[in-house]
Parts: sequence; C-alpha cells; structure tokens
Amino acid sequence: MTKKERMEEIVPILNDYAYHYYVLDKPIVSDYDYDILYDELVKLEEETGIILPSSPTRKVGGEVLPGFKKVEHEIRLYSLNKCNDYMGLEKFISDVKKVIKTPKFTVEYKFDGLRIVAKYKDGYLVQASTRGDGIVGEDVTEQVKTIRSVPMQIDYKGEVIVAGEGVMTLSSLEKYNKTASIKLKNPRNAVSGAIRNLDPKETARRNLDVVFYDLIKIDKDTLHSQEEVQEFLVKNKFLTGKLFEVCSSGREIEKIIERIDRIKATLDIQIDGLVIKLNDLKQREELGTTSKFPKWAIAYKFAPLEVTSKLLDVEWNVGRTGKVTPTAVISPVYLAGATVSRATLNNYDDILRKKVKINSLVFVRRSNEVIPEILGVAKYEDNAREIEKPTKCPSCKSELVEDGANIFCINEDCKEKVISKLVYFASKKCMNIEGLSEKIISLLFSLGKLRTYQDFYKLNRSDFEGLEGFKDKKINNILSSIEKSKSCKLNNFIDSLSINGVGEKTSKDLVKKYKTLNNLMAANYEDLVNIKDVGEITAKNIIDFFSNEKNKSEINALLGLGVRIQEEKEIEVDKTNFFYNKKFVLTGTLQNYTRSNATKLIEDRGGVVSNSVSKNTDCVIFGVEAGSKLERAKELNVLIINESEFESYLKG
Ligand code: NAD
Repeated sequence: MTKKERMEEIVPILNDYAYHYYVLDKPIVSDYDYDILYDELVKLEEETGIILPSSPTRKVGGEVLPGFKKVEHEIRLYSLNKCNDYMGLEKFISDVKKVIKTPKFTVEYKFDGLRIVAKYKDGYLVQASTRGDGIVGEDVTEQVKTIRSVPMQIDYKGEVIVAGEGVMTLSSLEKYNKTASIKLKNPRNAVSGAIRNLDPKETARRNLDVVFYDLIKIDKDTLHSQEEVQEFLVKNKFLTGKLFEVCSSGREIEKIIERIDRIKATLDIQIDGLVIKLNDLKQREELGTTSKFPKWAIAYKFAPLEVTSKLLDVEWNVGRTGKVTPTAVISPVYLAGATVSRATLNNYDDILRKKVKINSLVFVRRSNEVIPEILGVAKYEDNAREIEKPTKCPSCKSELVEDGANIFCINEDCKEKVISKLVYFASKKCMNIEGLSEKIISLLFSLGKLRTYQDFYKLNRSDFEGLEGFKDKKINNILSSIEKSKSCKLNNFIDSLSINGVGEKTSKDLVKKYKTLNNLMAANYEDLVNIKDVGEITAKNIIDFFSNEKNKSEINALLGLGVRIQEEKEIEVDKTNFFYNKKFVLTGTLQNYTRSNATKLIEDRGGVVSNSVSKNTDCVIFGVEAGSKLERAKELNVLIINESEFESYLKG
C-alpha cells in the first residue's frame, strides 16, 4: 500500500470517529486510539506533502448540532498542539526560543471536557457558546446559565469574552449514576451531552462546572499576560484551575509534570494533561498560529487512563465469601503505564447493563492503583456473542445459588473459596502473615497441609523443607512472621474470619460496640442492627457465623494455638488528645503519609475518618492539590489544617 492509499484509508475512519465523538457524543474508540491514528495521518501528510480535502487535520472540532442557534465567534478558536513526552516539550520550548529569547511559561491543568466561551457585557453574562469548528459554535446560553459556578454577573463592567472548560466532577458523576437509569460512562461525554442538550433542565440535573482559563477578547488593553488573565478571572469570581504556575525552563515544567502525573488520579476533576502557554500576550502575537493551533501553547498529554480493547473471554472466579465474579480477558493494551490484559466486570447484572459481549470492542479504564474496569461497549464485531451466566461453580462444579445481583457457591469445601479465605486471613490487613503469598498458600493447600485457619499455626519447618525455592532463610522468615501474627488486634481478627458482609470498616464498628470477642460472639440481632451501617442481612450473617459449632471450635483452636487478641480495653486511648472523638476528612496528597497510614494514626487516637465534608466534620486535613473538599470545608467553616499541623497534633 502506498502512503497516499494509507491516507485515503485513514481519513474516512478518523472522520467517522470524529462524527461519533463531536456530533453524537458517543465515541466508538478511546481518545488514545483516535490519537494514534491521527498522529499517523499527520506523519504521512508531512512525509508526502499531501493533505486530502476531507482530512481532519484541516479542521478544529466538530459541527453545530441541528436545533441550536449558531454563534459566529468574534475571534477564531483553535485547538492545541500536543506532545506525549519531554522530547516533544523540549522541541516546543526551543521553537518558541527561536522567536522569544527568554520566554516565561504558565502551566495549567488540561481539563477533559467541553470548551465553553462566555461573553459578558455591562457585567452580565449575555452569551455562552461551544467551540464548534472554531469559527461557528452552538448557542448554549440557557444551558450554561444553569451551571451554578458560572457567574451571572461580574465586577468588570466593560465587554469581555472568556473561555473555560465545561466539566463534571467525578463525585458528581458518581452521585448522578447512583440514581440514573442510563449511567454515564465518563465525565467528558457526560458534559458534552449535558451542555449540547436542548433541554437546559438536563444540564442543571448533571451538576456541572465551568473552569475558566482563557481570555478571548477584552475591550480595554489592560491585561498583558496569562498571569494577569488568571488574576482577572479570580477577581471576577470565576472558578479557575487549582494549578497555575509560572516557569522559565523545561526542567521546571517537567518537575510539575512528574508531580501531577503522580496525583492526577486523585483529582475530582478529570484532566488528561497539562497546558503550557507562553505567559506574555504580546509575545504570543509574534509567534502566531498554524491553521489548527497556536504556536505559543502546547498540551502535554499523560499516558491514557482509558483505551479500547477487544473482549476475548470472561473468566468466573470464586471469592472467599463464595461470590462468583466475572473477570474480562482482553487483548493486551498499554494503559496508565502498564500492559493490561484483565479487567473487572462486577457481576452478571453489570454485564447486562453495560451490554458487553465476547468479541466486542470495549472501553477499559484504569485509575491509579485500581484494577482496570470495563466501562462499556465501543463497537460490536460481527462475531460478537452473549456472555453466558454460569450455573455451576467454576471450581467445584456444585450448583450455584443466586442472591440479588450476585451468584454464590455455597459449598464450604470448594477449593477456590477455601484458598481465597486462607489468602485473606493471612493478608496484611488481617493477620498480616508476611511472606505467605497466594502461590505458597495454594501449594500448601494442595499438599494437604493448609485447609483451615488453625493450620497456619500448626505449620512447622518440615512442612516447607524440600519444597522448591524454600531455603532456610525463607522458611525462618515465614515461621517467624506466623509467630508474630499471633498477636493481633480484635478488628483485624474479626475481619480475617471472612464473615459475609463484615469487612474492614464493619469489623472496626463491631469492636467499638462490643470491645471483646466474647461480647461479640454473644451479640443479639437487635443490638447488631442498631449499629450504623450494619444491615439486617449482615446482622444475621454475624449471628449465624458465631452460632455455628465449626466456627466456634475454629476460633477456640486458634486461641489454643497461641493467638492473642488485643481487645479494645487493652489499647488505652488518651481522651484528651486532639483527635479523640472527632470526625476528619483527608483531601489532596500528603507528602509523608499514605492515606491509609494517616487514617490509622487518626483512628488509633480515637478519631474517625470519613470521605465527604459535611457540617458534622470537625476537621479537614489537606495536602497538595486538595480539591473541592477543601473548598467545601471553607464554605462550612470547618477547621482546616495542613500536613505540618497534622504532624504536630500527632506529636501532641
Ligand atoms: P484537545 O481536547 O486535545 O485540546 C484542546 C482543548 O483543550 C481546548 O479546545 C480546550 O477546550 C481544552 N483545554 C483544557 N484545559 C485547557 C487549558 N487550561 N487551557 C487551554 N485549553 C484547555 O483538542 P480538541 O481539538 O478539542 O480535540 C481533539 C481530541 O479529541 C483528540 O486528541 C482526541 O483525543 C479527541 N477525539 C477523540 C475522538 C474519539 O473518537 N475518541 C474523536 C475525535 C477527537
């Protein structure tokens, strides 16, 4: 195939993708896959010097939807040139330096939403529009007026046109999806669908924001740099991005990129990169624009968090509670810095809701440290077929039982279920037996040496000797960590028992209420359901568990083998400490503590950590890049402290 033929092949595909993305707001491939093909086209165009008449590189964005009034932009709006690595960034900086000797750059978040242009006259919002193709956009004034963070009135009384990004915070998306019959897949499409919607009520329902970052036009020549634009926006009470830094070297910018890359997944507003702009507005004129983007700015795009891949198969696995859950096997793809070939699908209902089929092209998303998740279908291939719901346990082949949206294997001797329980028992957050991986536990199971929890404490040197890879040192380490694990906290012990519905949080709640294992074992149903967050089913599970003779004798055996539970009364809490009996919320990234670390330190001092800020919150501890929770705390007049204040309270 010649280069021209390849271009003729790519252009209609890209245009079809763009149509689904810009016009229908229903993309059929991920941005990453679109960008790869687009970059290939750009390269071919450079190599051949040919640009086909319908090439997407000739135009910005999409078309105006029928039903919307058209708005002709007073000043043409451009897209942004992009790079994915430091080489691209350095090239941009050196190109700028060819024209401007000592440039200064601003660095901001690149929000992943829909560009909105807002015009204010005599202090009032008079028009809002989408970017459209950069020349003509859609009039979305009524829709934008429903967005609470967009000021209807500003202090500046002249004529000014500003631009920003319509966004939906991840917390708003989650809240919306809790009650929505049709769930929204990602915030970008959610915003576009809400603003480019003829019914402003739908825009209002989605609880959007517009984050402002640009000045398009102003009647008086009063602003001369991006810094001054930012000040103007803040002064006029526009919502602006939390990141705004001025740099004069590539290294400084790279340091910011590294910092934000680490915390980007914790932000409530989705970003897909950073935007680097020349600070001085006059200098920008000297650099000018290409037909598609300004030469004075660049978007640095992070590795994708969302890609498309083919669903090859679905595997069903049995968990420690017997729940049988599906795992999607996908064609390996590069995602958020790692190659991914498996992703979660929560249960069979989730498969039906997302209309996922084998041999369909699916959207896969990975937020940091979280297992990749299938979001929905991009496209069905011709040979796509339905996923069957299993009726027999994939491990022990016994008949499965349905309970609500989930299916369970109720055979207590099911191999996979027992191994999962043993793995959970030994895990860090339960009995914390270091060095006993899932692989070793499975091996000991198959050798018949490990079937019940008490077996852990019966293991001795001879059980490991002779096994491949087990030298003296490794055996010593395992045996000593088994010994060490005998001393445990009551909440970890309860958690380790795999009582259905009783995880980390409920275990702590039970300890707060019952203080000792004996009290908990004698608990009655009425008292249990009175505990906040313990429902009727979990209460029943707890009663059933502790009245089962087998479980009782397992617990007795563990105690007999030397497991010593530190009960609540043993852990003396100083009730005068700052944290005691207070409700905390953590936001942003702390430099010296992980979130679970900080939570533990607070809880050990008698405090409680929750996720959202309300008027019941006593204190918000904030780190770098703290977002809406900090704002909310300020609004509600909640005490806020930074990391070093947190540290000094810890020291008392
Ligand atoms: P873009 O989204 O990559 O970048 C330009 C936009 O960034 C601006 O228009 C503005 O809205 C936004 N932006 C966010 N924060 C900003 C800030 N601080 N300062 C300035 N601008 C900021 O470019 P585009 O032209 O809007 O869209 C092209 C992209 O759309 C492609 O790279 C691709 O990822 C995606 N796309 C995807 C498909 C698909 O099928 N998945 C199809 C077409 C396009």
